[in-house]
Amino acid sequence: MKFKMRLKLLALVCGIDVCLGMVLVYMVREREAAHVAANSGALPWEEGGILDRAKGLEGKCVALTFDDGPHKDCTPRLLDGLKQRGVHATFFLMGQSIEGNEEIVKRMKEEGHLIGNHSYSHVQLTKAGAGAACDGVDKTSSLIENITEERPQYMRPPFGDWNEELECEVGMTTVLWSVDSLDWKLRNKNRIVKRVLKDVEDGDIILMHDIFPSSVEAALELVDALTKEGYTFVTVDELLID
Ligand SMILES: [Zn+2]
Repeated sequence: MKFKMRLKLLALVCGIDVCLGMVLVYMVREREAAHVAANSGALPWEEGGILDRAKGLEGKCVALTFDDGPHKDCTPRLLDGLKQRGVHATFFLMGQSIEGNEEIVKRMKEEGHLIGNHSYSHVQLTKAGAGAACDGVDKTSSLIENITEERPQYMRPPFGDWNEELECEVGMTTVLWSVDSLDWKLRNKNRIVKRVLKDVEDGDIILMHDIFPSSVEAALELVDALTKEGYTFVTVDELLID
């Protein structure tokens, strides 16, 4: 069976107190999307969801997102390359990697990147229990806030593993992705670039990890290639907000 990781976004607006006005982005594989469509008619993102709104921005845009950092060597190299190209990205930081790398986090903020939360120690949050999961997320947000003087509003759960209960406990906007670079697995610049270019479309959120040299090289090559194709690079908040 052909297994094509074609990921789509689904935006849901929570209607209860702490969730009011928050947007939850879900990752859905195409074949799962087909299942949803078969059961409920039109897909939510075809009815004015995030992708449509992203397309309302001028020109084609795409968000590069990096998880699991900061990394003492790879992240500064990535920041150098992004700065040279005048591109902003989104970094979802892991709390346990922040200690010792505070200057890198400060630099991300100073250079206009968006900083989000990727838990403290990369646990599977739905299995950790709401209390422990939220403690780790809060601790990470506090570490980031101490450095940047701004508390993160966006979070990407490790493994994309999330549920509604956590949404309400944590009180942050969850951001998943629509194109998975599989950089952690491929570890090869050319293969990562090829994989992303094959799938990328206007309004996509690309998942990468700034902890591998090959990911940094691939990300910068992707910036150059997609810029030539007319894409503008935005941070995820620019995709999620009108
Ligand atoms: Zn991760």
